[in-house]
Amino acid sequence: MHWLYRSLGFLCLFLAFYLLFTEALIPVYDFERPQPFHGKNWYNPFAAETLLWSRANFHIHSRTWGGLTNGYNTPAQIQAAYQKHGVHWIGISDYQRINPESPIPLYEHGWNIGKVHQLCFWPEKVRWLDIPHGQSIHQKQLILALLRGSCPFVVIAHPRFMHSYTGEELARLGGYDAIEVLNRYGDSVAEWDSALSSGQYAPILAHDNVHNVENPHELLSRWTEMAISPTASIETLKSALKAGKTVGYKNRTPTPITRPYPQFARIQMRGDTLWVKLTQPADSLRVIGQGGTVRAVAYHTDTLRYVASFEDTYLRVEAYTPEIEAYTSPLVRGEPTRRFLPGLKMPQTFFKIIGMTLLCGLLAFIGGGLLGRYT
Ligand SMILES: [Zn+2]
Repeated sequence: MHWLYRSLGFLCLFLAFYLLFTEALIPVYDFERPQPFHGKNWYNPFAAETLLWSRANFHIHSRTWGGLTNGYNTPAQIQAAYQKHGVHWIGISDYQRINPESPIPLYEHGWNIGKVHQLCFWPEKVRWLDIPHGQSIHQKQLILALLRGSCPFVVIAHPRFMHSYTGEELARLGGYDAIEVLNRYGDSVAEWDSALSSGQYAPILAHDNVHNVENPHELLSRWTEMAISPTASIETLKSALKAGKTVGYKNRTPTPITRPYPQFARIQMRGDTLWVKLTQPADSLRVIGQGGTVRAVAYHTDTLRYVASFEDTYLRVEAYTPEIEAYTSPLVRGEPTRRFLPGLKMPQTFFKIIGMTLLCGLLAFIGGGLLGRYT
C-alpha cells in the first residue's frame, strides 16, 4: 500500500503547485460595462480618395522546435511561396518563438489545451507564462495584460477555433488591438461583431494559418489586404494595422485565386452617407452594423450607398462573389477607441488569493506528510 500513499503524496504536491500558479495568483478583474461607439462624426480608416492595396499574411508556421510542432517549411520556402502570389507583408508566427528570418517579427503565444492563442507583433521577448487548462475570462485577461507589456500590437487569434474566446468575452476583455476574424481553423464573424458592438476598435485580420505552403488547399485560403502601398515603410505598416486599414478576404475555391477579384476602390463617409465602390461587380454587397445586423444589401453591383441612422455605432462592409468573401474593418462613430486593461476587484482578489493559498498550503502539507511517512 505504500506506493498508493506515495502516489497520493505526489498528487497533492503537484496540485498544490499547479493551483498556486494557475488559480491562486490570478486576480479578479473589474470589467467595464460595454460602451458602444458614439459621437456625431465618423472615423473612417479608408478615407483616402483612391485606395491602394498590398497583400499580407501574418499567421504562418515554419518547421521549428525540431519538428515537434506542426510546420513543414523553411522560411525561404515560405517567402518564395507567398511572393509568387504577390504577398508583400509576411510574418512567420512560430509557436513561442520569434523566427529571426521572419520579415515581420512576431510569434504565436499559447500552449494551453483550449487553443487560447494570441499573435504578438514586434515583441520585445517571448512570454512563456500560460494557463494549460481551460481558461476563465480572468485568466485570459491576465495573459493579455502580460503580452500587452511586451508587444505593441496584440491580436486575438482564431476565437472560433475550439471557442477559445467567446463573443461575450471579447466584449469585456481589454488590452488587445485586433481580431483574427478569418482563419482556416474557424471564421469568427459573430465574435468580432460582439467586440465591435461593445465599443472595442478591433480591425480585421485574415490569415490562412499555413503549416505547409505546398498544400494548395491551405495556401492563401484567407489573406489580409492593407490599404497601403507595397513599398511603404514598416512604420507605415505599424500605424496602418493600428488604424484599421485592413480588409480580410476568404477564398471560396479550393486553390489560390489567380483571377482578378473585387477590391474596394473607395470607401467614403460623406456626412452620414457611406459610399462604397468596388473595382468590379460583386454578387452582393452588405453593410453590417451594431449587433451584427444587416443594415443594407445591394445585388450585382459595384456600388453601394447607405445613409447611417443614429442607431449605427459602427459600419463595416462585406462583398461576395462565387470565389471570394471580403470584409472591411469598421468605420466607427467618434474615435477608434480600445479598452485599457481593466482594474482589479480588490476585496475579491485579496480573499481569493488568501483562500486559494491556504488550500494550496494544506495540499502541500498533506502531500509532504504522506511522502515523509511512506518513503
Ligand atoms: Zn493558433
